[in-house]
Amino acid sequence: MCAQVDATTFLSFVCKACHQEIEAPAGMARREAECPACGAIIEVPDTSEPGTIWAKAGAEPDRPTNEQVDAMKSRTIRIELNDQW
Ligand SMILES: [Zn+2]
Repeated sequence: MCAQVDATTFLSFVCKACHQEIEAPAGMARREAECPACGAIIEVPDTSEPGTIWAKAGAEPDRPTNEQVDAMKSRTIRIELNDQW
């Protein structure tokens, strides 16, 4: 069912508990995961949240500059698909 998911696609979102920015493989969409920063159980959305690194370009009037993208990268924690899920 998830065969169409591109392994290089990531989703980004913000932990509702601690506001840590997190990126996860698209294959984790709608799955529960543990926030790497605070340990809260979070549900990976199926679309990236606005203002995070993988949000769709064009949704906002101003494109992020390279500096802003670097800043987003440095504050985003990547979580990996875990076979246990
Ligand atoms: Zn958190």
